[in-house]
Amino acid sequence: MPVRGTPIALALACLYIVLAAFPMAVAILGPLPPPRGPGVEFGVALGFAALGMMGVQFALTARLRWVSRHLGQDSLLQFHRVAGIFAAVLVAGHVAVLITADPAFAAFFDPRVNLMRAGALSAACAALVLVLVLSILRNRLGIPYEWWRLTHGALSMLVVLVAAAHVVMVGHYAGPTWKAIAIVAVPAVAIALLVYVRVVKPWRSGSRPYRVAEVTRIGERVWRVSLEPAGHRGLSFEAGQFAWVTFADSPWSIRQHPFTISSSEHHPSQLEFTIKELGDFTASIGSIRAGSTAYVEGPAGNFRAGDQAGGLLLVAGGIGITPMMSILRTMRDAGDRREVVLIHGVDTMAKAVFAEELGVLANELNLHAVHVPQHPPEGWTGPSGYVTREVLDRAVAGRNLQGWRVLICGPDPMMDGVEESALAMGVDRWNILSERFRVV
Ligand SMILES: Cc1cc2nc3c(=O)[nH]c(=O)nc-3n(C[C@H](O)[C@H](O)[C@H](O)COP(=O)(O)OP(=O)(O)OC[C@H]3O[C@@H](n4cnc5c(N)ncnc54)[C@H](O)[C@@H]3O)c2cc1C
Repeated sequence: MPVRGTPIALALACLYIVLAAFPMAVAILGPLPPPRGPGVEFGVALGFAALGMMGVQFALTARLRWVSRHLGQDSLLQFHRVAGIFAAVLVAGHVAVLITADPAFAAFFDPRVNLMRAGALSAACAALVLVLVLSILRNRLGIPYEWWRLTHGALSMLVVLVAAAHVVMVGHYAGPTWKAIAIVAVPAVAIALLVYVRVVKPWRSGSRPYRVAEVTRIGERVWRVSLEPAGHRGLSFEAGQFAWVTFADSPWSIRQHPFTISSSEHHPSQLEFTIKELGDFTASIGSIRAGSTAYVEGPAGNFRAGDQAGGLLLVAGGIGITPMMSILRTMRDAGDRREVVLIHGVDTMAKAVFAEELGVLANELNLHAVHVPQHPPEGWTGPSGYVTREVLDRAVAGRNLQGWRVLICGPDPMMDGVEESALAMGVDRWNILSERFRVV
């Protein structure tokens, strides 16, 4: 079934390849220098490929709204992580292959030959290793997310700057001035993207502040936070999308967290977030005072119900219910009578936030809502335990899911299992959307 957005996603994937191949294309365009043997040329090609991939990494994390709307921020970040590891392998290959093919290349790291060059290349290699190690071990090392993000950006920028300078200074493939300028454009665009994310976006958010209207505990370690625009019309978003929220007097605070908007898209001036205490920041949500200032950057993400004719199967685990609430509230406000099956996996029924409201929505919408407690109360006759294929089959009860959209948000193992089951149940791959709250 054709899905709107899929050709755009494919076009963006092609654009990625074109951009990543840009330094290589610059190298081979125009008259070529005499070849230096296959080993050396292969090693050099690895370096150009690495520079291209590292440069595009900045675009993947630039929170470009249009891109995230079609590819999903979650997929972009997963891809960013894999691409980063691959680019680092290319850099290692570049160094190893060149020195193996011609040991004279080891002189690039020899401070006695050229102190500045050896220092810069060694620092860039060390920065690259640090970027990888800190990204992989961040949680285990207990590094606060905000500090990791700042260090990650600074070290990555150093790597790309040194890499581009290295290509220009070696000059073998970047001799003509136009080639040198094209290579220097890679870090220049990366810096521009960094400035866009760290300067332009906060500055824009600063001109559209919000006032915290209400902070209410609605369940065990779960809070509802409502925001009202201060002097503007609010945020136009689509149900299911999220935003980066800063609860501070200044939009420049490094403490900015992604939260899904759980209110209806038909009320852009009454933004509601449902936040679960999870770590340092979220544990302090209850201390945010009504009347204080907040900043909202967004919306972002492609986790949306769409407007296709088929029904919706919404599968949430725990706090993953937040985008589903936005979708259901929006459908209620729009009088949308599409068929919806909602499955909410919860630890216990006592922790099933929104259970009451879902009961009301079931009467207002064409909604069948099913709770799946892992630890059911005594006498429970509904499904319990994990959200398995059997649970899904029972909830959809013989409905033909062809043309339906499936939206999944919850813990990773649940999401992986449901994605697989949805495919086996005949749902089109492009109609299965997932949102992972865990940022890798
Ligand atoms: C797209 C998306 C939507 C989300 N929607 C909701 C929601 O509706 N309700 C809800 O309760 N939670 C939501 N989350 C999760 C929420 O962002 C984290 O629970 C919160 O940021 C944790 O911060 P902490 O300091 O309390 O915990 P920590 O223990 O410091 O962090 C726990 C983990 O959360 C992630 N994280 C922390 N800070 C940030 C940050 N500034 N930016 C990105 N990731 C970070 C990191 O992976 C970190 O390891 C969402 C996450 C994403 C990615």
